Amino acid sequence: MWTALIEHAQQKHRFLDQLCTLCSGEFVGKGGTIHCKRGCAGCCSLNVRCTLTEAVALAPHLTDSQIEAIHRHAEKLKQIDRDSSDLKSFLKASRDQVGPCPLLDEHGTCSIYAYRPLACRALLSTMDPHYCTLDFSTLSSEEKQAFMAQLDQDSVNFPTHYLAMPQQIAQAAEMECVAKMQEAFGVAVTGNLPYLLDLELTLKVSAQSVEGRPMQEVIPSITSESFLLATDTR
Ligand code: SF4
Repeated sequence: MWTALIEHAQQKHRFLDQLCTLCSGEFVGKGGTIHCKRGCAGCCSLNVRCTLTEAVALAPHLTDSQIEAIHRHAEKLKQIDRDSSDLKSFLKASRDQVGPCPLLDEHGTCSIYAYRPLACRALLSTMDPHYCTLDFSTLSSEEKQAFMAQLDQDSVNFPTHYLAMPQQIAQAAEMECVAKMQEAFGVAVTGNLPYLLDLELTLKVSAQSVEGRPMQEVIPSITSESFLLATDTR
């Protein structure tokens, strides 16, 4: 069952990569610049979302040191979640106190590039990477307006500076992955990438559900939207 789900997600990855190439080419063709390049990891400091299927596909490819980094990162996120009153404060605290994705290597590149989730693939920055790490809540309204005035509103996911089309296609692909998971298990799970990886690595969610244990019993009853959105369709 997981094999089919993983193959489906990987097809979506390939399709999205092709689309990103096309969209980048089109944007550059009309005079824009895509600022993403090897070694630039601005967007890796954001909260990274993925589907459980993508986490299950990635988990067997992790090294011991990556696994340790994921456990440490997930523990810090759980503590911050306990201390945060809402999603906004969780996101701010995780960015300020936990740091970037634990899968970012010492050269600033993604150590699991071939397996990165749809959400990572879809981010194509039309402005300097400085804007990917900027905490917009610290800007004055004049600075925010100056930023928005620079955006190509026909191309970006306004008011962000990321190309819109890849994000729209990635979200649609995620929803298809979620629908397949619901069909297979009666429950669909999406959430924070390090957290979902930690869940798979510690609880072996995929193995337990294959052995016949209902997914609903395997997933802990976490209700924090910071980590996990589990949709029970029974
Ligand atoms: S999975 Fe890779 S691309 Fe995605 S946030 Fe982590 S290091 Fe960056």
